[in-house]
Amino acid sequence: MRILVSNDDGYFSPGIAALAEVASGFGHVEVVAPERDRSGASNSLTLDRPLSVRRTQNGFRYVNGTPTDCVHVAVTGLLDHRPDLVLSGINDGANMGDDTIYSGTVAAATEGYLLGIPAIAFSLVRHGFGHLDTARKVVSDVLTRFLARGSDAPLLLNVNIPSVPLAELRGTRLTRLGRRHAAEPVVVDTNPRGQTIYWIGPAGAARDAGEGTDFHATETGWVSVTPLEMDLTGERRMDEVRAWLDPSP
Ligand code: MN
Repeated sequence: MRILVSNDDGYFSPGIAALAEVASGFGHVEVVAPERDRSGASNSLTLDRPLSVRRTQNGFRYVNGTPTDCVHVAVTGLLDHRPDLVLSGINDGANMGDDTIYSGTVAAATEGYLLGIPAIAFSLVRHGFGHLDTARKVVSDVLTRFLARGSDAPLLLNVNIPSVPLAELRGTRLTRLGRRHAAEPVVVDTNPRGQTIYWIGPAGAARDAGEGTDFHATETGWVSVTPLEMDLTGERRMDEVRAWLDPSP
């Protein structure tokens, strides 16, 4: 079992060290991660310059690119063998609901999935890596069950882990993505040279956080596991658009 581990927080994150350590109990691990925090990078590829790969003393490799670049470069040219599994995280903070659109953590896993490899994104809900031991145990449990599923067909999972002591964890729930309210407005400020600058505001609060959502599960002490699809076709909007685009029967 060959496992590629990446993230979006950067190769130096405690989250990726924990993920690589747990994963090494399941197979041969290669770490290829961004050289700096690329949270929010989504599924972006760097096309306007070449990429470099360097190696740290502990064997982790880091790339001056996005999470998607890391997995793309690793799978399509850097590694000697194609990985059997791509893992991303453990992210410093939740990736639930609409977060998944912007998330670099989910994007790294998605790139593996799009390249035909099963992939899982792991996030620890509250910032700061409190209860990272809980996350370690969850990763181990999810991997054990995932690898025993009796298939090696590509599958993309988004896993969010509540930031609670292990004893308070209630179990695992299969969930759908919730929805957030629109993000907070940009914060307008002035830099030391008197120029106006804009900071992207924080994500909005949960709007659809009802029973069955990732928000609800983690809020009530459950690990949230959501299978993701990458086909953006709006199947439910086909009839609506057909009505004005091509009204002929
Ligand atoms: Mn991140």
